Order: sequence, then structure tokens, then C-alpha cells
Amino acid sequence: MKKWGFLICIIVLGYFLIKSPAWLQQPKEANVEIQNTVEIPAGYTETISVDMKNEVHKGNLLLVNSEYPVHADGIRTDIVNLAEQQELVRGYGLLDQNIMLSRYVAQAFQKMIEAAGEEEVRYFIISSGYRDFKKQEQLYEEKGSDYALPAGHSEHNLGLSMDIGSTLAAMSEAPEGAWLEKNAWKYGFVLRYPKDKVDITGIQYEPWHFRYVGLPHSAIMYHNNLVLEQYLELLQQKKSISAEVEGEHYLVRYYEASKDKTINIPEHGQYEISGDNMKGVIVTVEE
Ligand SMILES: [Zn+2]
Repeated sequence: MKKWGFLICIIVLGYFLIKSPAWLQQPKEANVEIQNTVEIPAGYTETISVDMKNEVHKGNLLLVNSEYPVHADGIRTDIVNLAEQQELVRGYGLLDQNIMLSRYVAQAFQKMIEAAGEEEVRYFIISSGYRDFKKQEQLYEEKGSDYALPAGHSEHNLGLSMDIGSTLAAMSEAPEGAWLEKNAWKYGFVLRYPKDKVDITGIQYEPWHFRYVGLPHSAIMYHNNLVLEQYLELLQQKKSISAEVEGEHYLVRYYEASKDKTINIPEHGQYEISGDNMKGVIVTVEE
């Protein structure tokens, strides 16, 4: 009998190892190193020519607040009505049939919701996504300056932000809010208006408002407790930040739009360009 018991244990253990459920998988890790260098790393032998003026006001890292407005270039060109995109709305609800969002951001959101569902957190609802200037103006008049920004000054005008709710409770109380606050960075999202950053963002704590910035930026911001204003300032100062997220190595470099035009990248390297919506361009290389 004992032999059988042992054998069953081995089979059960083997099954779990092969199936590798979420609790056995390594959590996403991030190592962030903040450098202070303008030197070109070895191996960055290819150069690209960047039209800086064109790039400053578009991309995933745009800072939009009362000081820096949305430029036409910054608005995502892949905005869709989510209610008409069934494949993008699995495992969560929509407050109404008119919620618009960047398709790309919606795909990242879908991935995040699936991961939350695997941890039994599954009562999400999107209450707001992309808003055009007209809609933003109405909202500003209704809500006032503590919770809304004038037309053209809201991240919702970019298509990169959304307000997420829980059907169980207010986000500050709901498991959905707690899960997102802890895990959203793994999927490229950041809690944009945290409780302890009101003096920097100028916006009250909004546990429902998440902004897509993409990896590795969300990981760097989360692990260093930086909001976008602080992250961009840090990049401007240090010029270079390297990060290792889930075994992937990234180098994030800042360039002043008025000065730099030619940028070094690794041979055949993958890179992404985003403006900061102020005076710089950030080039992120996946090494
Ligand atoms: Zn919002």
C-alpha cells in the first residue's frame, strides 16, 4: 500500500509540474539600473536618423497634464469602439456601448484581465476610455478641476488611458483595484494618479485611472515609485536607464529634440521611439 501511495504522490506532483499552474510560475521580475551616461554602448553600431520635431508629440510616453496639451499627432490612430470588438472584450464589462480605446491598448488590457482571472479576480468594468475634446469639455464642466482636466489636457484624449471599475465595490476597496495596483506594471500599465503623488500630478488619488506606457517603462516606474512626471525628469537628467524585465534587457535613452538627430542602436536591434510631449525624445532598445 505504501508503495502505491508514493507512486500516486509522484504522479500528482508530475502533473502539476508539467501543467505549471500560475502559482508555480516565477513572478515577473524587474531589475532596474539607473545610469548617468551619454556614452554609446558597445555594439550600437547602427545609426538611425530621427525627425525629432515630428516625434516629440507622439508615442506612449507623452506627458499630458494642465501644462502640456495633447497635440493632434499624439492621438492614437487605432481608436475603436470596444462594444463593436467582441474579441477585445472578454472577461470584463463595459459601462456603456460608446467606450472607445486604442486597439493596441485594449489588447494589452485583455491580456492583463486574463491574468487577473487566473488569480480569481474577475469583476472588472471599463467606464471610460478615449474621449474627444468635446466630451472632455463636458466632463470638465461637470466634475471640476480636482478630478478632470480641460479639453486637450487629459490623457483620455490620447486613447492611452482608461478608467477601470469593479462591479463589487469602489476601486479603493475592491480586490480588482488592489490587484491592478500591484500587477498592472507587468502589462505596461501604470496607476497614473497615486495617493502619495497628488502634489506632483496635481490630480486627486484616482484608483480607477490607468495609463498605458508599455514595458519596460511601467516596470521602472513601479519599482522606483515614480509617476510619469518624475520618470521623464529622471530620464532627462540621467540620459540613460537600463532595465531587465523577465529576462529581457532594455536600454532607455533620452535625447534632446533640438540637438540630436542621429541615434545609435544595436545592429538589427528592436527599438521604439516616443516623444515626452515637452522637448525630448525617448528611444527604447530591446537588446
Ligand atoms: Zn481617467
